[in-house]
Amino acid sequence: MVNPASGVVVGEVASLSLAEVDEAVGRAARAFEGWRKAAPGERARVLRRFAGLVDAHLEELALLEVRNSGHTIGNARWEAGNVRDVLDYYAGAPERLTGRQIPVPGGLDVTFHEPLGVVGVIVPWNFPMPIAAWGFAPALAAGNTVLLKPAELTPLTALRLAELGREAGLPDDVFTVLPGEGSVVGERFVTHPAVRKVCFTGSTEVGTRIMAGCAAQVKRVTLELGGKSANVIFADADLEKAAATAPYAVFDNAGQDCCARSRILVQRPVYDRFLELLEPAVRGFRVEDPALDTAEMGPLISAGQRDRVAGYVDGAKVAFTGSCPEGPGFWYAPTVLLADSPADRHWREEVFGPVVSVLPFDDEADAVRLANDTDYGLSGSVWTRDVGRAIRVARAVEAGNLSVNSHSSVRYWTPFGGMKRSGLGRELGPDALHAFTDVKNVFIATEE
Ligand code: NAD
Repeated sequence: MVNPASGVVVGEVASLSLAEVDEAVGRAARAFEGWRKAAPGERARVLRRFAGLVDAHLEELALLEVRNSGHTIGNARWEAGNVRDVLDYYAGAPERLTGRQIPVPGGLDVTFHEPLGVVGVIVPWNFPMPIAAWGFAPALAAGNTVLLKPAELTPLTALRLAELGREAGLPDDVFTVLPGEGSVVGERFVTHPAVRKVCFTGSTEVGTRIMAGCAAQVKRVTLELGGKSANVIFADADLEKAAATAPYAVFDNAGQDCCARSRILVQRPVYDRFLELLEPAVRGFRVEDPALDTAEMGPLISAGQRDRVAGYVDGAKVAFTGSCPEGPGFWYAPTVLLADSPADRHWREEVFGPVVSVLPFDDEADAVRLANDTDYGLSGSVWTRDVGRAIRVARAVEAGNLSVNSHSSVRYWTPFGGMKRSGLGRELGPDALHAFTDVKNVFIATEE
C-alpha cells in the first residue's frame, strides 16, 4: 500500500488465494447457522457495541484512511463517523424485522424475512469505509454472515473494522475481510454457490460482468456503479451560492466520487456570469497535504488514475484550473473544461478525477434532455428559485438521488442508488434491510 500524498509505502497486505477464499466461504456458511438463530436483541447489542468501538477509534480509522487513500482528514473523520452511524441505525433493525399477517380463509398466513446466508460485499477504493458499512451493517443485522473484499489499493481500514467487530462480540466467521484480487476473491463470490448474494460497488464494466455471472445461479445482486451526474443551474437561481458550492460537488475526494456533479449545465443568459463566479471558487479550492485540517482536496489514488484523468484534459478546451502541490504524490489540479457539444468525451465518460465540464442550455426541456443524455443515472442537482420547476425537473431527471439548491446525496437513513447503468437496488435507508432477506410465506391450516 502506498500513501498517495507522498508515494511512500505504508504497508503490505497479502492477497488471498482461491483455496483460502473457499475455506472462508465454508466457515462463513457454518457460522450462518448460529448467527441467524441469535436472538434479535443479541444481534442488535453486538452491532451497537460495534458502533461504539468505531466511535472510540474514529480518529485512528480516519488517520489510517488519510495514509492509505489520501482522503482529507475532514472527509476521513466523516467517513468513520458514517460507519458508526450506519451500524447504529441498523442495530435498531433486528427487533423490527417484522413480517405480515395476511387474511386468508381456513387458516393463518404469515410472512417472514429470512436471511439469505453468506453475503459477499465487494468494495472500490474511493470510499473504503462507508461503502463497506452500507453492505455489511444491514446484512449482519438481517442475520446473514458477511465476506468483505476491499479494493486492492485500500484494504487497511476494512481490516481494522473487522478487528473492531470481533472485539464488539461478533462470533467467529460472521464478518470476515478477505483482501485480494478482484479476479480471484471477487470472482469467487460470484461463482461459489454458498455465497447467496453479491453486493458490488465499482465500475459499470465490472458490475455488468458480475450481474451476468450471478445470473447463472440466480444469485441476488445489488449494484452501485458509475455516474456522470448533472448540476443544472437555471437563470433564476441563487448564482453566487450555486457557483460557490459547485466545486465541492465535483472536486470533493478529488472527484473520485460516483455522485460527482461532473457536468454543469447553465442556462444561457447567466452562462458567462456563472463562469465568472466559478473561477475564484475553483482557484481558491485548497488542494494540499490531506492530513491538514484546512485541506479541501488531496491527491488522486494512484499514478495510473492521474494519467487516466490527464487523458481527458488533453486536447480539451480548458476554461481555468486551480492549483495543487508539486513533487511526489499523485496530485492533479481542479480543472474546468468547456464542452463544445454533448458528444465530447469528457462530457460523456466518467472521469473520476477533479475535472468538470460546462455546457449552456436554452430552456427547461433542453436542460432535462441534456441531463438525461447519458447511460448513467446516479445523482444530480437542480438550482432554481421556482418551486414548481424544481419539482418538475427533479422528477424528470432519470437518477436515483436528486438535490434541489444543494448537493447532498448521502444520508444513512434515506435510500441511495442508481437508475439506468448506475446500478440496481438501493442501499441505506429503511428498506435496505430487505435487500438482504427473502420473503417466506407460511400458511397454517386451522380447519379441524
Ligand atoms: P472496479 O470495478 O475496478 O473495482 C471495484 C471492486 O471490484 C474492487 O474491489 C475490485 O477488486 C473488484 N473487482 C474487479 N474485477 C472484478 C471481477 N472480475 N469480479 C469481482 N470483483 C472484481 O472499480 P474501481 O475502479 O475500484 O472504483 C471506481 C468505480 O466505482 C467508479 O466507476 C465509481 O463510479 C464506482 N463507484 C460507484 C459508487 C456507487 O455507489 N454507485 C460508489 C463508489 C464508486
